[in-house]
Amino acid sequence: MPTDARTPNALEHVPTRVELFDGERIDAGATSETSALDVIADPQESAGVTRRAWTMLLALVVIGSIAVVVVTLTVPDRKATRTAAAGAATRGEQSPMVGDDNIATTTSGSGPTTASESGLATAVAPSTTVKLPGGSAAPVVSRVPTTDKVIFLGIDDGMVRDPAVLEFFRTNKIPFTVFLTKNFASVGEGFWKDAVAAGGVIEGHTATHPDLRKLSWNQLNNEICKVADAYGKQFGARPTLFRPPYGLYDDRVRATAASCGMKAIVMWKGATNDGRLDLAENVLKPGDILLMHWRSDLLDNLKVVVERCKEQGFAIARLQSYIG
Ligand SMILES: [Zn+2]
Repeated sequence: MPTDARTPNALEHVPTRVELFDGERIDAGATSETSALDVIADPQESAGVTRRAWTMLLALVVIGSIAVVVVTLTVPDRKATRTAAAGAATRGEQSPMVGDDNIATTTSGSGPTTASESGLATAVAPSTTVKLPGGSAAPVVSRVPTTDKVIFLGIDDGMVRDPAVLEFFRTNKIPFTVFLTKNFASVGEGFWKDAVAAGGVIEGHTATHPDLRKLSWNQLNNEICKVADAYGKQFGARPTLFRPPYGLYDDRVRATAASCGMKAIVMWKGATNDGRLDLAENVLKPGDILLMHWRSDLLDNLKVVVERCKEQGFAIARLQSYIG
């Protein structure tokens, strides 16, 4: 009996069942930007006000201006605050579905992001070097141990291939990982090459999308090693990361992944379905990896994720720059 067999994860392929998460919805645009200054604008309308009223008005404007200056000065400080404690908190945490292995991390540098014109922070060089444990079993990662305010997109299967999605990635300079099932690699080869050109990286997600725990060693080899070999030839880079279908794996899967050259088994801390983002811990945390799918709702889901990143000041980074 495998020691770390997982129960099926309803989020992977049954979009309406999200009971593993708290199901918090994003209220896009629900900001409270209106300030006192907006309320008292255009003093010309106050033709009949007394001298005393004008004095009060002036005082309010001065107070409001000071408040704006204070907010402007303090916001960057808040963004820059990344403590060692926050880094420690990202390690060894358990989601309802998955657990991470102990992965060493060293932190240096002051931050990975710069603000872009669109408002979505743009990831630059990682400030964290992640040292994945080697050995005979591939480590399992659902949150990269980093204090950088970054998340990662892992998009699975490949059934629906919408060029508008690639355009969205290109326009917003968003990196992404494709966990591609092999039958879709063949029928959509041109699209996936475009995806790579748009900033995507093709990684492994088996040939036939089985429950890997039920397979023989030889079958596991076909689903992981052979697919990696084929993608290497097809797309010019052999995968180094592997996501098991349905998030189901055991010790034999981890051993096979390691022997096939996979540096990690990639799980997730949040998932999107039908324009909704469900997070294991309700808010984005540094290093969170998301589960998405190449389905008809992908563009809507991406926009929701981008909005959430803007709200929380996160960037979307390349997973392979941190692990892989
Ligand atoms: Zn899948």
